Amino acid sequence: MMNRNPNFANLSSGYLFPEISKRRNAYQKEHPEAKIISLGIGNTTEPITPYIIEGLHAEVARLGTAEGYTGYCDNEAGLTELREKVAQVLYKGRISTDEVFISDGAKCDIGRLQYLFGKNTAVAVQDPAYPVYVDGSVIAGSAGPALSGGSGYAGIIYMPCTIENNFFPDLSVIPENALIYFCSPNNPTGAVATRDQLTGLVKMAKAKQSIIIFDSAYASFIRDPSLPVSIYEIEGARECAIEVSSFSKPIGFTGVRLGWTIVPKELLFSDGTPVYRDWIRLFSTIFNGASNIAQYGGLASLDEKGLAETRVLTDYYLENAKLIRAALAGPAFEKIGVKIYGGDNAPYVWTFFPGLKSWDAFDTILDSCHVVCTPGAGFGPAGESFIRFSSFGHRNQIEEACSRLGTLQI
Ligand SMILES: *Cc1c(COP(=O)(O)O)cnc(C)c1O
Repeated sequence: MMNRNPNFANLSSGYLFPEISKRRNAYQKEHPEAKIISLGIGNTTEPITPYIIEGLHAEVARLGTAEGYTGYCDNEAGLTELREKVAQVLYKGRISTDEVFISDGAKCDIGRLQYLFGKNTAVAVQDPAYPVYVDGSVIAGSAGPALSGGSGYAGIIYMPCTIENNFFPDLSVIPENALIYFCSPNNPTGAVATRDQLTGLVKMAKAKQSIIIFDSAYASFIRDPSLPVSIYEIEGARECAIEVSSFSKPIGFTGVRLGWTIVPKELLFSDGTPVYRDWIRLFSTIFNGASNIAQYGGLASLDEKGLAETRVLTDYYLENAKLIRAALAGPAFEKIGVKIYGGDNAPYVWTFFPGLKSWDAFDTILDSCHVVCTPGAGFGPAGESFIRFSSFGHRNQIEEACSRLGTLQI
């Protein structure tokens, strides 16, 4: 029989979201009358907006004509028009068209990027973090095995983001030649790094000859104009950062699938090879381009009308976040000293439950309010005692969940 890739044995058993489903289903079985509402998984809920739907439809129609049909895109990196538009509209020309690589999503690109660096790469992550950075590194052989008691993985450098440091980590723990995953606006904490903080990050990455993988999947939720929406707003980032991003959250393309990665030409490996060159080789070897239909939807979203619709859609979720914040500020939570963070420039509200473990808080909220949330401990050791509330949901469901949260018995 074939040998199993030993890296898989290094993964800890419970991937966060299957464990949440398991507990939810078990509860529902015991309490068939409970009308459970999820403020758990970060999945979009509102329909794709009309102008963007038109963009999708138009390409579907073209594909049914002899003149309009296209097969594989001429370039795996995506439609030139879309790459141009991303560079101009989203990056204000700080990035050139050929540095934009259109993909089937940020998560998929994060997975593919790991091939660039090979095994035994030092990996530093914000703690808590989006699970793919760490689990992907374990599968790629850069980390593992899992340490006992939910304290993370051997070989990963955890950079705790806590109440005390305002959810921006101490960067001095970054070793030489490391891959640094950094997500802002952050999933799960909802924190957004300031210009000064990102300047510090870029400086540290350069001093440590390291590369940042900057995840800006939630950039479209930033409302404070002083906050940077891209790492390339910071001087020097072109020499030390790759940015991954996505159409999933801004325009509800979680199911349609469309994202992008920026690889600047100045970024080099230690032997002087441009990372850009290997990325093109990798991309064209194991990826065959994003769906042409999805790309025309993405293109529409970057027109004036599409951008206006994106604003309305992201505003809707931010309004949900405001309602959740207000519910969590109520007396039931105040009594136990709950502290509330995020939700202003990000769709997540990050909540500290003093004296409670995350999974206990999860069970209590499920039992008392029939609301599913996400235990912070699932995102890393520093997430313990936190709960993430997601603002992705229909307004009436959010309102119902908020009114139930007001009756929390703890
Ligand atoms: C949702 C999310 C993404 C988006 O992934 P896609 O594969 O583009 O859908 C990327 N990063 C973070 C942190 C996310 O939460």
